[in-house]
Amino acid sequence: MPDAPSDPTCIFCKIGTGQIPCHKLYEDETVLAFLDIGPLSHGHCLIIPKGHYVTIDQMPPEAVTACTRLLPGLSRAVVAATGCKGWNILQNNGKIAGQAVDHLHFHIIPRTAGDNLGYRWPAGKLDPAQAKVLVEEITRAL
Ligand SMILES: [Zn+2]
Repeated sequence: MPDAPSDPTCIFCKIGTGQIPCHKLYEDETVLAFLDIGPLSHGHCLIIPKGHYVTIDQMPPEAVTACTRLLPGLSRAVVAATGCKGWNILQNNGKIAGQAVDHLHFHIIPRTAGDNLGYRWPAGKLDPAQAKVLVEEITRAL
């Protein structure tokens, strides 16, 4: 995107412009997909917008679409290449959510039985009164 923001100090911006090499899987004028150099599993890869956005709420919808339209095809390719039986698509926003690089990225993380990656999912129970308030607050903010 011609007006996309950039940050000359950002490692993913440098990868996006080719200043830093990567194990490239796909590239067009707006997005880049490449292997994660700190993989959680065999075939772990990333999709980034070439524009510098820290979190998804900062992105124009078309930049999000440019990234997410790769997800089905890249997922199929990763499954074909690795033979994994499942995979996670992960996108962290903010350090408290586990974001390590302040340039938005989608992870595709192949999963295999016994890979011990796991994640905590301590499901609670939605209180109907709280749900009513949340629906009002969130829909008002939309
Ligand atoms: Zn960046």
